[in-house]
Amino acid sequence: MDWHSYDSSTASGSLSSANSEVRVYVERLEHKLNSLGLACQALWEILQDNMDISEIELANRMQEIDLRDGVADGKITHTVITCEACGRKTTRRRSSCMYCGAPIASDEEPFAKE
Ligand SMILES: [Zn+2]
Repeated sequence: MDWHSYDSSTASGSLSSANSEVRVYVERLEHKLNSLGLACQALWEILQDNMDISEIELANRMQEIDLRDGVADGKITHTVITCEACGRKTTRRRSSCMYCGAPIASDEEPFAKE
């Protein structure tokens, strides 16, 4: 079931049926979330074992990536922008243009010099 296209008026008409569909959807999401969490933990432990990376560096990088879209909301927002250097469409989730490599400024530059 695609959550965004879910329309209760065209469903079976039964609230309990809709509830069970939502429950199944949430269970699938939980399963995916658990798998992603496991993969992240495994990758992090491999990096820690093989490289000199601290928890603080990880937290700082997470914050930097979070702020690329100008909002500290704990998630990556896929804002499409036009690269000022080459004019092609790229995304703010990257620190540089995926085509020409030009740096991409965030909406907010907390450390910008005036
Ligand atoms: Zn570019």
